[in-house]
Amino acid sequence: MAKTKPGRKDLDSYTIKGTNKVVRPGDCVLMRPSDTDKLPYVALVEKIEADHRNSVKVRVRWYYRPEESIGGRRQFHGAKELFLSDHYDVQSAHTIEGKCTVHSFKNYSKLENVGAEDYFCRFEYKASTGGFTPDRVAVYCKCEMPYNPDDLMVQCEGCKDWFHPSCTGMSIEEAKKLDHFLCSDCSSDDDAKRSMNVFPVSPSLEAKVETKRRKSAEKILCLHKLEASFNYLVQVSVCVNELWEMIL
Ligand SMILES: [Zn+2]
Ligand SMILES: [Zn+2]
Repeated sequence: MAKTKPGRKDLDSYTIKGTNKVVRPGDCVLMRPSDTDKLPYVALVEKIEADHRNSVKVRVRWYYRPEESIGGRRQFHGAKELFLSDHYDVQSAHTIEGKCTVHSFKNYSKLENVGAEDYFCRFEYKASTGGFTPDRVAVYCKCEMPYNPDDLMVQCEGCKDWFHPSCTGMSIEEAKKLDHFLCSDCSSDDDAKRSMNVFPVSPSLEAKVETKRRKSAEKILCLHKLEASFNYLVQVSVCVNELWEMIL
């Protein structure tokens, strides 16, 4: 336990000025930037403290937005993506303007609706070096990019890899209407197999379920994508720290 300095006392909570929102250590908050044109800063509250004059301070760990990182924003970064940094600060509690939720990547992908206060984090970020943890991430599609949860992807029924519609020459609208999808590599294999089948083969139950799911919504495609990403991680991955340079 960290020692409290003389004249200071730890507080269990702080109520955001002009609201009934209560902030406790472990909560994520939005903090007012000095430049009002900028987006609020996002921080994880570690400790809340009052000094002898009853002025409340919070010790925070900053989340960085992709554009605030050394490598900048990349194509696969989600609009609500944040990196948990190793950059700590002490701020006046008055700068807290609201609370927010920073979800895990998995939980974020399962959200029915993404609210203004919903963010996600899949990487820790070392502010001094620009390095990321984990430093490897699964990649998909012909373009071999990590998954951006904001992008629609379709799964190939053959190889089970996921593809961006644009990378397979489809529009987003066309992709949403698809019942079945085979990537170019698998469709050439499939033609070869089909010509060898003498009797018609009825689709398996599994295939029916898959088709039904694919019809339902973009969100489910994203979720499936995510489940696949955990299996995929070992076989197909790319070093994130090198990826920054590759794309530049
Ligand atoms: Zn692609
Ligand atoms: Zn395929």
